[in-house]
Amino acid sequence: MFTQRAIVLSLGVLFLQFPPPALDAPKPSAAAWLAPYRDPAARLLGEAVSTDAAWQRLALLGDTFGNRLSGSPNLEAAIRWAVEEMKKDGLENVHTEAAKVPHWVRGRESLEISGPIPQPLVMLGLGNSVGTPPAGIEAELLVVHNFDELDAAGARVKGKIVLFNVPFTTYGDTVRFRAAGPSRAGALGAVAMLIRSVGPPGLRLPHTGALTYADGQPRIPGAAVTTEDAARLQRMVDRGTTVRLKLTMEAHFLPDADSANVVGEIRGRELPDEVVLVSGHFDSWDVGTGSTDDGGGAVATWEALRLMKKLNLRPRRTVRVVLWTNEENGGRGGLAYRDAHAAELARHVLMLECDGGVFRPTGFGFTGSDAARAKVREIAQLLAGIHAETIGAAGGGSDIEPSVQQASVPAMSLEVDGNYFLIHHTPADTIDKIDPLEIARSSGAIAVMAYVVAEMPDRLR
Ligand SMILES: [Zn+2]
Repeated sequence: MFTQRAIVLSLGVLFLQFPPPALDAPKPSAAAWLAPYRDPAARLLGEAVSTDAAWQRLALLGDTFGNRLSGSPNLEAAIRWAVEEMKKDGLENVHTEAAKVPHWVRGRESLEISGPIPQPLVMLGLGNSVGTPPAGIEAELLVVHNFDELDAAGARVKGKIVLFNVPFTTYGDTVRFRAAGPSRAGALGAVAMLIRSVGPPGLRLPHTGALTYADGQPRIPGAAVTTEDAARLQRMVDRGTTVRLKLTMEAHFLPDADSANVVGEIRGRELPDEVVLVSGHFDSWDVGTGSTDDGGGAVATWEALRLMKKLNLRPRRTVRVVLWTNEENGGRGGLAYRDAHAAELARHVLMLECDGGVFRPTGFGFTGSDAARAKVREIAQLLAGIHAETIGAAGGGSDIEPSVQQASVPAMSLEVDGNYFLIHHTPADTIDKIDPLEIARSSGAIAVMAYVVAEMPDRLR
């Protein structure tokens, strides 16, 4: 995946398309109003790909602070570092905004086949899970493939460790077993729940992620096993073997911890109270280094402001970057922002969250009015040179969502071509999966979109 490319490109090279366009490819008909933005857009893209600054910053973040789960000293140290770095970049109004965050701690954990022949399995406890008693939970395995099968098993669920062996299709389709599985199984008397990891088959990689306990149901521990181990357990059960498992987890909550969103700006030169917000979340799960989820989104959106600053581009409206805390297991950063900025949410012109990876950018997802969509589509033509001009059917992100909902703010997300869900929430989420040129292009695309929306005479509506 990772290629060490020379990424110092001259402006001339930038405008050579790769792959070259077919001779009969229709040329997008450029809107005339875009003419004044061609030069700044070209400069932003040129500056973005002339440096590996974003990749180097993301590598430094992961190498220095490691993963950044809410409540961890690593996250708080990274937040302090980001504030200092933003100031060094020359961003304005750099500050933190406090949020109390849940403090979940994984502790030691293990899963083994205890019978017929004992042997360890690869696992990761699910975030926000309760732990097991110190001696662990040992019980017979019951494999199901969906909620209907679980319900049909009825009384057979009682006292079992239930495995949801659900192949990954889309994240939205599959993640509901991780989120709701523990309470659905617990309601029928299961003593623990396992899921086949929510992601495409990898190299025996377990994927963590949050579970959500339903009110009024027993709270049983939840953990993920790898695709390979789920398939193996399935084969054993299919042969008629009675499989016994032993799950041990020290997972628990500590009291809520102090954390913060990091905010930096380029203040608008004419309408500083109108805000174009770009963002990524700075917290991560407690495995790997959270480089793709979502260090990359945080650094790429931050880089967009650094590029504007470097080129002395100060748009009409304020461009604000927010590095969110606690996306993964609470969403408290996004809620704190909505509440602290309630009075100015109506003056948010656009909110963008980048939390789908910083692979090759293809464009943006967008949710807003038809008129705003038409405008955004035209702006995206400025990104045709890097093939990032597609505007998808829907955009948003879990941290911007509370504000977007409250004030009907147009919402956007970066769309990319990459294997995000292969490494997401795993120990393999590290910087080496990210290509310097792809994060540079992602930063450049975000910079162009944010700049033009902040600069154009009419507000996006
Ligand atoms: Zn994320």
